[in-house]
Amino acid sequence: MGGSGVHWALIGASRIAAGHMISAIRSIPGHDVKAVLSSDAARARSYADNHEIETASTDMEQILSDPDIGAVYISTTNDKHYPQAMAAIEAGKHVLCEKPLAMTLLEAVDMVRAAERAGLVFGTNHHLRNAGSHLAIRDLVSDGHIGKVLSMRVFHAVYLPEVLQGWRINDASAGGGVIPDITVHDADTVRFHLGEDPSEVVAIATSSGMGQGVEDSVMSVWSMPSGVTVQTHESFTHAFAETGLEIHGTKGSIVARNVMTQRPIGEVWLQDADGRHAIPFSGHDLYARSMGEFDKALKGQGRPAADGVDGVKSFAVALAVREAAQTGRRTSVDYGGV
Ligand code: NDP
Repeated sequence: MGGSGVHWALIGASRIAAGHMISAIRSIPGHDVKAVLSSDAARARSYADNHEIETASTDMEQILSDPDIGAVYISTTNDKHYPQAMAAIEAGKHVLCEKPLAMTLLEAVDMVRAAERAGLVFGTNHHLRNAGSHLAIRDLVSDGHIGKVLSMRVFHAVYLPEVLQGWRINDASAGGGVIPDITVHDADTVRFHLGEDPSEVVAIATSSGMGQGVEDSVMSVWSMPSGVTVQTHESFTHAFAETGLEIHGTKGSIVARNVMTQRPIGEVWLQDADGRHAIPFSGHDLYARSMGEFDKALKGQGRPAADGVDGVKSFAVALAVREAAQTGRRTSVDYGGV
């Protein structure tokens, strides 16, 4: 790996790969997309043709037995991530897996530990921590610009585009629901900015028309070990809400708008005793940065932007939020020993 380049296989003929990850992989010198796996032969072929990918297959074995393939990007529905990641690890391939990593905490821990044991790089594709806006926010917090952090609020209520209103809103067995889809990203973002893991959560979830058998909206409050409180709101049904976040501290507040998104957009400002200051940030592509960090990890230079443990922890928080919403109880987050 390294000098001769990295040939990737896409596990899943998905929209996220088509819209973001194929170009992100190709943006890294030495990386290319060699194969795509789909459960449907015709879809595999047309996807491969549309994206100029050499191999189209419905056979995981065929893809994993190709010694040229060094890494896989898994972006199937959530129920398939675990078996596919385990097969790839068994075959000695590095893995970049979509969130949520799995359907249960045990599975998520298992796949991350298996990759560690095999000495393989394992990343979780949490895009937000790769955004220039979020990198700037994280630096403001860690450099002490807002003093001691008191609280954080995350606004991530969006309208799920019609084209995505499939398994996410009607198939619990595929991993549908706004909690595995969006709360998991917010958990990663909160951990990234505050540098600590939520301890306990309370939550109320609803299905307000779009979700069939799964929640389509949720609000939750989390306690952090330092005493910071966090409030988050995720939804598939809010057509006109702005996304954003606020982090409030003893010396100032960070306010960000339109930053819970796949695009390098939004605004960030710092409010303190001297007034309101606009914070500049880089406008690079989020997914290309994620791939760049994965490439460095393959070369032994650091870790993926979000690694396997990050993926387990964001999922653990989402599972606790769902349990709290279902039981109505204040729920401790179980991180599965990671
Ligand atoms: P899609 O619904 O596009 O793809 C999921 C699976 O559905 C594919 O593997 C494919 O199966 C099947 N599929 C795709 N298109 C069609 C079609 N036209 N007709 C029939 N079946 C189809 O999912 P997403 O790309 O939205 O999400 C995939 C994963 O990526 C999820 O785990 C999700 O949580 C994650 N994700 C992450 C994002 C991020 O920013 N990190 C953003 C969006 C999604 P097959 O492979 O068998 O052909």
